[in-house]
Amino acid sequence: MDSKKRTTRTTRTTIGRDPRTMSRAELESLGHRKRPLLSAIRQNCVDCAGASPAEVRRCALIACPFWPYRMGVNPFAAERSEEQKATAAEKMRRLNAKRGEFAGFPRETAVQTAAEAPRGREIPAEGSSEEPAQ
Ligand code: SF4
Repeated sequence: MDSKKRTTRTTRTTIGRDPRTMSRAELESLGHRKRPLLSAIRQNCVDCAGASPAEVRRCALIACPFWPYRMGVNPFAAERSEEQKATAAEKMRRLNAKRGEFAGFPRETAVQTAAEAPRGREIPAEGSSEEPAQ
């Protein structure tokens, strides 16, 4: 293979390209989109754990550099004020309501808070002869 052909091939390939030298359009053409880094880490962890968020929660590989960030939050970030927490909670409530709508659930169901959600069956205390509440 002559050097001219080799050069042409190299410029066409995306393998090994430095994303710092790529345009946003080029990155988007490869399926990437601008997103918060914590979101990217979270997505990577879900992929790593076989598409299972529950397995990400259970991940025991504490030596992995992503481990502290795997739940999509930065535990090293400064503590938020009560006002910031309330704003974030409201934002999350709206986002969850939207997600519920997209998933086909009625809005009333989607905005249900954890306190309003129906409880599962209560498990009787060990040694108790009581029937579990229905
Ligand atoms: S913390 Fe590391 S090992 Fe654990 S799920 Fe994320 S990427 Fe995978």
